[in-house]
Amino acid sequence: MKEKLMNMLEKRESEMVAIRRYLHQHPELSFKEEKTAAYIADFYKGKDVEIETNVGNGHGIIVTIKGASPGKTIGLRADFDALPINEETDLEFKSSNDGVMHACGHDAHTAYLLILADCLIQLKDEWNGTIKIIHQHAEEEPPGGAKSIMETGKLDDLDAIFGIHVLPMAPAGTVGYHSGYSFNGRTYFKLKIQASGGHGSSPHKANDAIVAGSYFVTAVQTVVSRRVNPFDAGVVTIGSFDGKGSFNVIKDSIEIEGDIRYSNDATQEVIDREVHRIVKGLEEMYGVTCELTYVPDYPPLYNDPALTDFVAETLSQADDHHIKEVKEFPKMSPSDDFAYYLEKIPGSYFYVGCTPKGVEEPYFNHHPKFDLDEDAILVAAKSVGHVICNYLK
Ligand code: MN
Repeated sequence: MKEKLMNMLEKRESEMVAIRRYLHQHPELSFKEEKTAAYIADFYKGKDVEIETNVGNGHGIIVTIKGASPGKTIGLRADFDALPINEETDLEFKSSNDGVMHACGHDAHTAYLLILADCLIQLKDEWNGTIKIIHQHAEEEPPGGAKSIMETGKLDDLDAIFGIHVLPMAPAGTVGYHSGYSFNGRTYFKLKIQASGGHGSSPHKANDAIVAGSYFVTAVQTVVSRRVNPFDAGVVTIGSFDGKGSFNVIKDSIEIEGDIRYSNDATQEVIDREVHRIVKGLEEMYGVTCELTYVPDYPPLYNDPALTDFVAETLSQADDHHIKEVKEFPKMSPSDDFAYYLEKIPGSYFYVGCTPKGVEEPYFNHHPKFDLDEDAILVAAKSVGHVICNYLK
């Protein structure tokens, strides 16, 4: 089965590239991927599989492929949304949708998974178990698609889930993995402080929102420096402090917005608790009223150690000339909503190198000049193919 699958994938490399280029040229923003979803659904037309569309809070698609006889159930996910970025590459197939760009490689993710899925459908008499292909909408924009897809219960029967992300930090042919916590979690917050304004000359008849807000900014700096375990990572950034007014008027209210990141669940709990505590203290200390909007979005991404070892071992021993190197990658500071699947289902999210050929300092994901080596698409398909074959065996 594995040999057949690998041969089929190699023969269909040009199709993967063509799909990637088509998607690249026709990117759509998170939650607005109507045409992309229709293109994907169309790909499965006439194939002997069960397909569900509009899964979750958007255009999610789940394709269920049943093997020869029952066995383990495995999930494979590829995201398909693009970003609000004006593409600055010189590619022939550059975005035809102004201001929208596949700058994170989700076009490549979808391209490899479509062809891999088709090969698995054609070979379904040769393997046992069930494979659920998850074409996920809206990875880039919280609340994202993954959480809502999980909430449908349609993935409750999965024994394991796998996914990949292309990263230009290594050349095509390199596959990376990281065990345990691998991507940071993130929270957005907004604090509105209501005090009471007055004349600049008469502070005793007013209550100054700017002073209370400034104290908050200073106090919140102690959360990471004094409360977080020094072996863990956390960040609290105030990105906006809206206190604009007149020089001789005491402000009656201000608004602060910020971004919080954390590398694991314990750190998230500490930061949540401490930010709320400082806000409560602020009311007591300054006699103001605080309204805190606190929105955790993607949680820290936790790769199951046993399954990550399994992926690393499978690929190291794959004896596949397209997979030249398998190595541990560092933790990543961005967030990915694949984390929601991994909260409930053991699995591993791993990385496929894609530095464009001849480029020494590649542009990273989300850059208007982001590009990838299309050789990485076959590497992705084969890597995930090896993992499935070994897992279902
Ligand atoms: Mn991405």
